Amino acid sequence: MNRKPINIFWTGGWDSTFRLLQLLIIEEKVVQPHFVVRAQPSVGYEINTMINIRRQIFRRYPGLRDMLLPTKYIDIREIDKDTDISECLKEINNFHYLANQYQFLASYCKQNLIKDIELSIESHRYVGNKIFIFIAENLSNNNGIPFKLEQKEYESELKNLTCKLFQYFKFPIIHLTKMEMRKYAQEYEFDAILGLAWFCATPWRGKPCGFCGPCIGAIKKGFPNKIPLFRRLLSRVHLPLRSFYRKNFKNY
Ligand SMILES: [Zn+2]
Repeated sequence: MNRKPINIFWTGGWDSTFRLLQLLIIEEKVVQPHFVVRAQPSVGYEINTMINIRRQIFRRYPGLRDMLLPTKYIDIREIDKDTDISECLKEINNFHYLANQYQFLASYCKQNLIKDIELSIESHRYVGNKIFIFIAENLSNNNGIPFKLEQKEYESELKNLTCKLFQYFKFPIIHLTKMEMRKYAQEYEFDAILGLAWFCATPWRGKPCGFCGPCIGAIKKGFPNKIPLFRRLLSRVHLPLRSFYRKNFKNY
């Protein structure tokens, strides 16, 4: 058994929970989760979910008690805004929209000299996100498992910027879709624990809202039961309007 802890950003969401369970149950690794506490409506739910999942893991697999280390909670205000990294994200956004979270996650790693933390990004091969497809196709190989983004000089500025921003992370599940993760979890019988994962960004009365990006993703990717029926029906009405708005009025 390898006792060196594997660092991972864990949010209690589907993708990072899948990887956490895979590391613990299948790869028998000691796992050190990191969680950035932001001022967002979903944060309390994410923390509750992680506590619940941790409890279920220990109940079902008592031998893993020493393997899952206490989560490191980092207040986002303690992460200095690194100008180099902020500039990098700004430049990437001139080509392609990329969420702000990668800026503070990369800054956190740079400040704490972390170079190998796992970032659980799912496969984007069906949605055509250029940045994540580029990452997935340019990972160095570690015993057959694609891991870190190779640091090379590219002709494309976007590729060079992507290399710079994502240099701190490992991408262990970027080849898997949510459905593939579910199948894997069923095969290894940890799907019930994975099913506890949280995914809504803007919960409504303690339940998934049915409207935010992750909720829409859950409906589209075949997990509609995670959303309460009424919110799901509302979402069905609103979905075509949202697509129309995005296509015609949003510039990314
Ligand atoms: Zn939602």
